[in-house]
Amino acid sequence: MSRRPTRPARPARPTVTAESSCPCGLPAAYGACCGRFHDRRSNAQTAELLMRSRYCAFVLCDEAYLLRTWNPATRPGSVDFDPAMRWSGLEIVATTDGSMFHTSGSVTFVARYTHDGQPGALRERSRFERADGAWMYVDGTFEE
Ligand SMILES: [Zn+2]
Repeated sequence: MSRRPTRPARPARPTVTAESSCPCGLPAAYGACCGRFHDRRSNAQTAELLMRSRYCAFVLCDEAYLLRTWNPATRPGSVDFDPAMRWSGLEIVATTDGSMFHTSGSVTFVARYTHDGQPGALRERSRFERADGAWMYVDGTFEE
């Protein structure tokens, strides 16, 4: 891979088609995995699937999806995508509750990235709540 000599003005959204392997890390095609949530064909049935689809939305700079899966009480007015950020992988570390039989849950994950070419990782425990059958992101705390 060749390095870009200058920082692009806008986030470089990777080209992902329905047949591409899903950026969320599950062994599935994007269209059958997170794509069906992004284009409203389906709702994520578990907090983990919502978490994966939101990570995937960060990869694809899908602000509308991030906002509509964000609890209204904690939802920001907009999502800023850092043009220097390249998300490179998601690993789910732990989950609590968050199944079809729960109304809340948490997902602890590690998201890897390069920022201005420097590799890094963030570890976060995200909290989710389900209302009217749809999982929503509430908030998250960074972990060491
Ligand atoms: Zn996916």
